[in-house]
Amino acid sequence: MKLVLLGTAGGPRPSVNRSAPAQAIIHDDQVHVIDCGNGVARQLALAGIPRDQLTGVYITHHHADHMMDVGALPLIAWTDGRDLPIDVYGPSGTAHMIDEFLSMTAPELAARTATTGRVPFPGLLRTTDLNAAGVVRERDGLRVTTQLVDHPPFDVALGYRFDAGGRSVVISGDTRYSSALIDLARGADVLVHEAIYPDAVGAQLEGAGAETLRQHLMSCHTTAEQAGQVATEAGVGTLMLSHLVPGSDIVTDQMWLDAASRTFRGRIIIGRDLHEINLDPIHDQEKSYVEA
Ligand SMILES: [Zn+2]
Ligand SMILES: [Zn+2]
Repeated sequence: MKLVLLGTAGGPRPSVNRSAPAQAIIHDDQVHVIDCGNGVARQLALAGIPRDQLTGVYITHHHADHMMDVGALPLIAWTDGRDLPIDVYGPSGTAHMIDEFLSMTAPELAARTATTGRVPFPGLLRTTDLNAAGVVRERDGLRVTTQLVDHPPFDVALGYRFDAGGRSVVISGDTRYSSALIDLARGADVLVHEAIYPDAVGAQLEGAGAETLRQHLMSCHTTAEQAGQVATEAGVGTLMLSHLVPGSDIVTDQMWLDAASRTFRGRIIIGRDLHEINLDPIHDQEKSYVEA
């Protein structure tokens, strides 16, 4: 099993340094993508991950930075040759989004099917709305489990856990400090947790609505210290901070590290786009993206 951070920003605003939050889990020649912000398909291309192996899509919640491309990613996978089913999971309302996307793209789908002889795209999509904790999928040696995390104002926000070959990866999604997430992450090898740096958030916001947004950020997300606390209470091996707010260099890697290491003594990685961890027992090694 391999984990790739496709994007490590938080929020819908495009950023030069980080793409929208998303992760890929690759297992047994199957690609599973958790969250689909704008540009997720291009991040797969940059990571060298074949889109025609897209098997599962998992949406954590319905903020735009997590679901803008929930229809676009499977469609691009289909144009790249995918002719096997793609399972899409997400909070209640996800199936409706997919239906609306299929309506919106009907002319494209009809034209491309006619000119390429491809199997029709809508028949490949199998969508499941989730609104409770439990096992989402157990197939081909991979088990996916979900928990309800805490991200107001959404009624349903989900964290996901992937277990395969005795190794495990947990994705927090967006959440404030969550005891349900601690349960989900118990004993995991890697916990990818969102993080906010409160002292630097205020400086970024200005204009009408800034105070409302600041209040939302502070009450619905997790500080790096709290993410460290979650990692400690869950007993995970490695904490990866991602969905970094702010994602600019105002907060350096060392600052994130200092904050998280106040509460977590294990290994901490400050997420960068395309950072990759191989969790196979034989080659437990990683490579990280080096900026040219
Ligand atoms: Zn977010
Ligand atoms: Zn959110």
